[in-house]
Amino acid sequence: MPTVAENPTTFLAKSLASERIHSGYVISGLGDAPRTAALDFARGIVCGGPTQGPRPCGACDSCRRSATGAQPIALDGREKNKAPAYRHVCDHSNLFWVELGSTGTRVTVWQIRALQKALRRPSPTSGHRVAVIADADWLNEYAQNALLRLIEEPPPATSFILAVNAISSLLPTLRSRCIRVPLPAPPHRNFRGPDEPDSVRSIVARLDGIQALGMPELLVWAEEYRGKRDVTVGQVNELLTVSCEWLRERILHAVGQGHSSVQDELDAYRTVLRCRRELIRRNTNCQMTAERGLFAIRSAVHS
Ligand SMILES: [Zn+2]
Repeated sequence: MPTVAENPTTFLAKSLASERIHSGYVISGLGDAPRTAALDFARGIVCGGPTQGPRPCGACDSCRRSATGAQPIALDGREKNKAPAYRHVCDHSNLFWVELGSTGTRVTVWQIRALQKALRRPSPTSGHRVAVIADADWLNEYAQNALLRLIEEPPPATSFILAVNAISSLLPTLRSRCIRVPLPAPPHRNFRGPDEPDSVRSIVARLDGIQALGMPELLVWAEEYRGKRDVTVGQVNELLTVSCEWLRERILHAVGQGHSSVQDELDAYRTVLRCRRELIRRNTNCQMTAERGLFAIRSAVHS
């Protein structure tokens, strides 16, 4: 399946107007933009308004039923808790929504199987059905493979929209089955800005001084991420995300100054990205992942 070359908004609008809807889409981009675009596209697919007008039209019965507003129910990725594995978008029976459970660290295969079971049941109403996987970055490999099989052989008139921050989080086999819609990057986020939370600014300040740190200090730093994974996974994810931006800034600055050798920083950048992906996809140990990331950065900035 191709990556869309034209403007993503135009592409999605044209797909809705032509009613040629594929079984799988991956919408990628930063922050909440892919989730918002996926929800909009899903509502557009089930919209009953005129084909030529904008979709979702906002006025038809389907749009009214899928208009978000109330606090959605929390999901859970753990079967034993008997919490919902997926939910509907508002009370729209043809719109399904899967996301990270409220206390979970991944979107689980149990959630995908529960979705599959629901989609195998006949719809109480006619029309297209759409399932949004809102935190597709957080699908583990089992869940990705289950989803792949579902997209390969979808129930009739059913589409899947995956919203991701980094398309590289997805297995190549899953990516290749979907139409890829990359959203344009928003203006560069300034991690040194006054609006950033204290936690982010503190990471930036510590990275600025990483050159002076030896291995014992780095180990102590990583040790801060020891403890309950539910709590630390978000913190390590933040550390690695800020580190990527910090390295990016450094690389761009070096290139701007005419330095040609940024290989060490590039290697560190890739290592940190990989750490982040494995933290999410493979459930790696938080403290050890932080350690790996910090060591990679420290060794890149030795000179
Ligand atoms: Zn509508």
